[in-house]
Amino acid sequence: MRAIESDHHGYFIRTPRMPTRADLGRAGATLATFVLAVCVTIAAAAATAAPSPSPSAERAQQHAQPAQTSAPAPAQRTVPPASVSIDPSHKAARPEPPAPPEKPAPPGKGVAGARTPTPQPINWEKLTQEAAVLLSRYIRIDTTNPPGNELSAARMLREKFLADGIPATVWEPAPGRGVVAARLRGIGKDTKAIVLLSHMDVVPADPKQWRVPPFSGEVKDGEIWGRGAIDDKGPSVIELMAMLAIKRSGILLNRDILFVATGDEEEGGRNGAGWFVEHQKKIYADAGYLLNEGGGITLSPGGHRFYAVSIAEKTPMWIRLTAQGQAGHAAVPPDATALTHLVAALERLIAYRPPIRIINPVSDYFRAIAKLDGGPHEFNNLVLSLRKHAWRRDFLANARYNAMVRDTIAPTVLGASDKTNVISATAWAEVDCRLLPGEDPAGFLDKIQRVINDDTIKVDVLLNFPAVSSPRRSILMNAIDSVAWRDNRTTVVPTMIAGFTDSHYFRAQHVISYGFIPIELTAAQERTVHGVNERIEVKQLGDGIRRMVELLRFVGGS
Ligand SMILES: [Zn+2]
Repeated sequence: MRAIESDHHGYFIRTPRMPTRADLGRAGATLATFVLAVCVTIAAAAATAAPSPSPSAERAQQHAQPAQTSAPAPAQRTVPPASVSIDPSHKAARPEPPAPPEKPAPPGKGVAGARTPTPQPINWEKLTQEAAVLLSRYIRIDTTNPPGNELSAARMLREKFLADGIPATVWEPAPGRGVVAARLRGIGKDTKAIVLLSHMDVVPADPKQWRVPPFSGEVKDGEIWGRGAIDDKGPSVIELMAMLAIKRSGILLNRDILFVATGDEEEGGRNGAGWFVEHQKKIYADAGYLLNEGGGITLSPGGHRFYAVSIAEKTPMWIRLTAQGQAGHAAVPPDATALTHLVAALERLIAYRPPIRIINPVSDYFRAIAKLDGGPHEFNNLVLSLRKHAWRRDFLANARYNAMVRDTIAPTVLGASDKTNVISATAWAEVDCRLLPGEDPAGFLDKIQRVINDDTIKVDVLLNFPAVSSPRRSILMNAIDSVAWRDNRTTVVPTMIAGFTDSHYFRAQHVISYGFIPIELTAAQERTVHGVNERIEVKQLGDGIRRMVELLRFVGGS
C-alpha cells in the first residue's frame, strides 16, 4: 500500500480582518472559513484492495459493571458483537437488565417518571487535569497511519470507561487496527442516542522538525504537545471526559450517549468508521445524532467569533487515467507515446472549469459572514454577485472560495517510465476531483471523458461515495445554538467543508451528523494540524469539556 496524500490542509484558515477585493484576488491568500481542521485522506490502494475485516469483538472485562456480566461468553475475541452490553437492543429487547448505578430509575420509565436526584457539582479543574494526563498518555501511543495500530489506543480508552463503570467494547477490524465504543445510558425510552465520534489514528510526524518529540505527549507551559493533540485525540478526550463528568455528577439525560473512536480515518476509514458502520449496525441502531470533527469555534474573515458547524461535505471522485502505447528506445521515438497521450489529456482536463453552482449551505454561510462582519455586501447574494465578471474573477481566485462553489479537478500523482531513455508502454495519472453535494457522479465522469476526448485513455474510479448532507434544523443544532447563546450570544453558522470526514458513513445511515467540537483554537494552532509542533492548551481542553457537557445536557433535556 503506497503512501497517501492528505487533503487536510486548512479547511479552517482565517484572517484577522475583513477581506478586500485585493485579498480576494491574491492567489494563495489565507482568507476563509472555518476553525477546526478536519483530516481526511485516502489510500488509493485501499480502493482496490480493501482487506476483509474479521469482526472479532473484544469483550469488556467482567469487573466492569453489572450490565456487562449479563452478556454471555466473556473475554473471547470472537463473541458475537450483538451480545455486548453497549448494544442498544439490550435496552429494548431484554426484560429487565440489572440497573446500572447511574440509573436510579428503571430503563424505559422515561424522564417524567424518573426520580431525579440533584446532580453533584463538577470539579472542572480536577477534571481538566485528568483530561490532560489522559491526552498525554493517548499521544504517547503511536497510531501513525499507515499502519495505524490503533488497537492499544482503543484498549486504553476502553479501560478508562470501564474504570468509571461505563460499558465499553473494542473490536479489531484488521490485525492491529482498533475501534472502541462505549455507551452511557440515559433514562429516555424512545429517544435517539447521540454519537460522539473521533478517530484514533494520526498522520506521520517527522521528529527532526518538531521542538519536542511528537509522540512524547509532553506537557509544558500549559500546553499538551504531540501529534494528534488537535487532530483528533484532543477532541476524543473531550468527548470521553464529558461522558465521565456527566456520569460522575449524576446528571440524567433523556438519551444515551454513544462514544465511538475509530481508526484509519486518515486513509479513508475503510478499516475504521466504514467497517464499524457496516459490521456493527446493532451498536448504533438507535443513533439519531452525531458530533464529529469538522467545525468548532473560530473567527470570521473580519475577526468576529462564531460557531462553525459543518452540515455538508464535498465528496471525492478519485480517478486514474491510463494511457497505452508502443514501448521502445527514446533515441527513436514515435510521434505519439503513452506519455504524450496522457499529457495531452491532462492539459485538456486542467483547462476545463466545472460550472459554478451555489448550494444552500454555501450561500447561507456567506450571508452569515456578511452579517457578522458587516460586509462585503456581495456575500449577501452570492448568486447575483457571481454574475459580475470582475467580482467573480476575484472571488474565484481564492482557492477555498472557488472550491465552495464548484466541483474541482486536481491531478496529483503521475507515473510512466523510470528511465530517461526508455519509452514506457504505460503512463498513468491520478486525479483528485471533489464534487459538490447533489452532483451526479456518473454525469461528472461522462463530462470528464468528453473533456479528455481520447478513447485510448482508460478512466477508472478509485474512490467515490454519495455526498449526503445533514439538515440545518434539528434538536442537535438547537442545543449548539443554546450553548453559543450562553457563550456571549455567539452566532452559529452552518456550513459546508471542501474536504470530507468519517461523518459521511453515518449520514448515509440517516444519522444527523454535524462537524462540530466545541473548542476554540487560534489560527496558529490550526496550522499545526498535519504540520509540526501540534499542541493544545490544557485550558482549551478544559473549556471544550465544559462546553461539551453543556451541549449534551441541552440535547439530553437536562
Ligand atoms: Zn481528523
